[in-house]
Amino acid sequence: MTKYIYAFDEGKKAMKDLLGGKGANLAEMKRLGLPVPDGFTLTTQACIEYLNHGSKLSEEVMESLHEQLEAFSKRTKKSFSSEEALLLVSVRSGAKISMPGMMDTILNLGLNDNNVKILAEKTNDERFAYDCYRRLLQMFGEVVYDIPMALFDTYFNQYKSRYHYQNDADIPAEGLREICEYYKNVYLEEAYKPFPQEPIVQLTEAIEAVFKSWDNDRARVYRQLNEIPYGIGTAVNIQEMVFGNSGNQSGTGVAFTRNPVTGEAKLFGEYLLNAQGEDVVAGIRTPKNIETLKVQMPHVHQQFLKVAQQLEMHYKDMQDIEFTIENEQLYILQTRNGKRTANAAIHIAVDLVEEGIISKKEAVMNVEVKSIDQLLHPNFDDNALEAATIISKMGLPASPGAASGQIVFSAETAKLKAEQGAHVILMRPETSPEDIEGMIASKAIVTTHGGMTSHAAVVARGMGKCCVTGCSDIEINIIDKKVTYPNGTLNEGDIISVDGAKGDIYLDEVKTTKAERSKDFETFMQWSEEVARLDVRMNAETPQDIQAGYQFGAKGIGLVRTEHMFFGAERLIEMRRFILSYTQENRINALNKIKQYQKEDFETILKLSGERPTIIRLLDPPLHEFLPKSTEEKHSVARQLNVSFSELEHYIASLNEVNPMLGHRGCRLAITYPELYIMQAEAIVESALKLKQQGIDCQPEIMIPLVSSVSEFTTLKAQIIDKIERLEIEMDESAHYLLGTMIETPRACLIAEDLAKECDFFSFGTNDLTQLTFGFSRDDAGKFINAYSEQGILDIDPFQTLDLEGVGQLIQRTTEQAKSVNPTIKIGVCGELGGDHRSIQYFNQLELDYVSCSPFRVPGALLSTAQSEVKGGRLRVQ
Ligand code: ADP
Ligand code: MG
Ligand code: MG
Repeated sequence: MTKYIYAFDEGKKAMKDLLGGKGANLAEMKRLGLPVPDGFTLTTQACIEYLNHGSKLSEEVMESLHEQLEAFSKRTKKSFSSEEALLLVSVRSGAKISMPGMMDTILNLGLNDNNVKILAEKTNDERFAYDCYRRLLQMFGEVVYDIPMALFDTYFNQYKSRYHYQNDADIPAEGLREICEYYKNVYLEEAYKPFPQEPIVQLTEAIEAVFKSWDNDRARVYRQLNEIPYGIGTAVNIQEMVFGNSGNQSGTGVAFTRNPVTGEAKLFGEYLLNAQGEDVVAGIRTPKNIETLKVQMPHVHQQFLKVAQQLEMHYKDMQDIEFTIENEQLYILQTRNGKRTANAAIHIAVDLVEEGIISKKEAVMNVEVKSIDQLLHPNFDDNALEAATIISKMGLPASPGAASGQIVFSAETAKLKAEQGAHVILMRPETSPEDIEGMIASKAIVTTHGGMTSHAAVVARGMGKCCVTGCSDIEINIIDKKVTYPNGTLNEGDIISVDGAKGDIYLDEVKTTKAERSKDFETFMQWSEEVARLDVRMNAETPQDIQAGYQFGAKGIGLVRTEHMFFGAERLIEMRRFILSYTQENRINALNKIKQYQKEDFETILKLSGERPTIIRLLDPPLHEFLPKSTEEKHSVARQLNVSFSELEHYIASLNEVNPMLGHRGCRLAITYPELYIMQAEAIVESALKLKQQGIDCQPEIMIPLVSSVSEFTTLKAQIIDKIERLEIEMDESAHYLLGTMIETPRACLIAEDLAKECDFFSFGTNDLTQLTFGFSRDDAGKFINAYSEQGILDIDPFQTLDLEGVGQLIQRTTEQAKSVNPTIKIGVCGELGGDHRSIQYFNQLELDYVSCSPFRVPGALLSTAQSEVKGGRLRVQ
């Protein structure tokens, strides 16, 4: 018989798949002897079966639930119906991968019209009892019966202002009783049924609702964003309640063992007295810094510090801990590895190594590749900031970044405007899980309520999105769509700039500058490099990009695209002269001019590379890309080339291709116009030799694109080598260079053995190889690829993540065969997939030498290669 429910005593941290992260960690903390209220967990398997079998709890699960409840009652000596010892529980969701704020939780379950009186009597605190009941009515209504939370909240807030109560906790017992009565009517009006009075009915319906919530929109969006599979399901934890809302000796809070924004090794947390559950996170009242707890309840603070330290040592990573204090008794309700900013992630990883808690390899695994990419985001320019008008300076720096954009006041508008291409900044008093899609669409998020652990802050940090919370010096009015700040007002569509690192908001757009990288970043990247086996090169051709790539740790250039160099006005006209000339002589004249330009380019590039390898790809795109398109342009080209308009048009028409991507491009250009590649090779080697005379031993690697047969390659190779040899004699100097090919047709893969004997290197061009293997045109795939993914025909977009089964197999075979006949051949990947984390995990298993990607993806790719190496495993070379 399958075991669907585990008591906390039966679980442990390693059982995350089954018990979810929250359940497994609650069990683990109990094992460690920490003060955790008792409970039990319904497994993720129960969830998946529930969802797959008509959304009904099976008899087996129900039976087990009754058994567990009975045992639980015995352990706690409490029950739902006991006047002496009343049992109240929380029902908490928790998947294997934490999804903060995404899933549902219900507190104080077990209360009803009768039990609330018992609770009031037992605790001698009617206010407290009815506060618990109104919370249950709200949470249960929203989660189980889909009653909009706003219906409860609006009434609650109106009630508060009607009687001028500042805080929730100021509402007296009668008030809360009245609110409960109102809430029960909301059930009748909205759900057409009363709030269920029977605790066991409440419990079953709550469990079912949590399972169901795995399927709701916001959970789906979050999973998509974080690539969390549907099939893992969520567990449900049933846990005895402890009460943070039972007076001023009680409270609830959240703390991180280290600062989640900066990474500083100091406890960082917030709490509220006389509050329950999500009050801190929801940003209803601005919470207190955990430092104040030292004064308010010194021994609880002391005890908490110890627990925090113990948990961090145990999990070997920064922890995000939820706790509740009931009458000065500390309870720990959750721990997990804390979400953090990219900077903090690096800082913490470096500190943990230096503190001797983890190894370098573990450190490499502790930082998400996504974080590295975020670190390269720009900051505001200091001078520009100085000159800018500040709107708010009271906000908290919840998640760093520098963003400018139009103000919007709702998630829907954010989404809509972003879809139209606008940069938007979402401004809300506070955010809630319903806002998730709007948050994704925005460049930054600003709230007036809530602290560093509020929903907005935590979710934004998880997304790596700029966020400022608690801007108490401005007012956000979402009804009138207005922001009031000390010196004026703003309307929807006005532009502001948000400094997430400082927590400041400015008027208008503020100029940005490149990110500066910390010493920790350098240290961490150094470790990644030590751990990694694959090299990372960059795809780049402009000096700025190349310099950036080298600063980011690239080991060379994996792809210089020469076609980009032909688009400057003067060069373009020579290129056009070349294409549109009838005689070889004219073509060579035009080429000689182009060659001068190319030499300058190559010299700059090779000089920047120094002794690091640089692959230069000879001209690849179809010629018509260089031709004039508009009539105006054609007239001007005709004049420049001294031909008649009709002659030019005629010639252009003759170059027209039905399917240019499969047409006259790549090495086929040089088969028809050999002088083209010869000129380029000559320019490369001349530049290299010139640099050699200056003492720079550069390493150009000349790459012939789109090869699909050996003789195609050998024909061009012979011409190029012949030219280079003559050059060497002329200049009385020998050049270091390699000659290889780009592997981007399936045929090239099939003949890898023979081709490899002729080549010094192979470089996989995964874009074309994917296009040609599937026969999908990359430019048209948008029309059908979504349908493929919706229908589960493809589970990835093969242009973004390597198709392991097909293209991956080609790459594997080709690599193995090439290395077996030519062990010194260098093999790399230079297509888009060279920078993709999941693709890199596969590439790392092959006998490849490097991956290459755009400069800004280099650090992320470097970390990917290191992580892949730690995870290990290499496919066997036959
Ligand atoms: P989330 O996954 O959104 O963090 P949780 O299940 O952790 O949701 O519940 C949210 C909050 O509810 C907790 O941080 C805690 O403050 C409160 N809570 C949950 N269970 C209990 C309990 N048994 N006693 C007291 N408070 C609880
Ligand atoms: Mg929650
Ligand atoms: Mg929680």
